[in-house]
Amino acid sequence: MEGYIDCHCHLADSQFDQDLTEIITQARDANVRGIIVVPEFYNQFEKVLGICNRYRGFLFPCLGIHPVQKSEDSGERSAIPSDLLDAVPFIESHINEIVGVGEVGLDFTPFYTKEEGSKNLQRIVFKEQMEMAKKHDLPLNVHSRSAGRPAIREMIENGIQKAVLHAYCGNANSAMQGARAGYYFSIPPCISRSEQKQNLVKALPMDRILLETDSPALGPEKQVRNVPANIRISCEWIAQIKGMSCEDVMKITSENALKAFPKMYDFLNTGINKYADPI
Ligand SMILES: [Zn+2]
Repeated sequence: MEGYIDCHCHLADSQFDQDLTEIITQARDANVRGIIVVPEFYNQFEKVLGICNRYRGFLFPCLGIHPVQKSEDSGERSAIPSDLLDAVPFIESHINEIVGVGEVGLDFTPFYTKEEGSKNLQRIVFKEQMEMAKKHDLPLNVHSRSAGRPAIREMIENGIQKAVLHAYCGNANSAMQGARAGYYFSIPPCISRSEQKQNLVKALPMDRILLETDSPALGPEKQVRNVPANIRISCEWIAQIKGMSCEDVMKITSENALKAFPKMYDFLNTGINKYADPI
């Protein structure tokens, strides 16, 4: 397939409120064919669906409870099962519109897991969403910061067959365990400054690799807003590491993305989004 697919992007982030249309135009001009938009917090769910509806056929939504949620004092905290009370019925009621369940997963960064039991509560939240994904035959879009190995283990134990590990920060050995289970790994532009991501790409076979930007985070420069047009940077680095042309990396990763997210495949190949409501 011609063009890139950005498999993990936060376009509902307030950093895009002022210039989303320009960012989308810039992405199209940079040969991006599709972008998967994931929420970070529950209060972004409506906004994710809204912008994906506005740019239908180019933006594709996932919904899920991220392991880090906003706390009452507007700081951040570890996810707890009661976060699912409103979220699960919301997701179920929009299940036909989404291409995957995410961003979900585990975040064992010490800052979020200082409280006793918080890791287990995150596991419960993750597991319940794994069940929802299985029930509706949807792939998971997975966050696993400081929890690469446990996230892969949980998914294998729960019989997950379709998953994308985004910005995986574990070592290559643990990633290969996920690769053997059939999971994909999406590579962000910060590969340009991350030896760990470069080693990950070295280890993974091409049929497990996807592209992402995680915009506005994980760009080539720290503290600078990342945008989907930067997907080219991920592609160039993978091409260099694998000794392939950028063209081939683009084609292979986009074909992989359509396998990872079959509902997006239907749309991009038929031009008909049978999952969206008519305007
Ligand atoms: Zn993310």
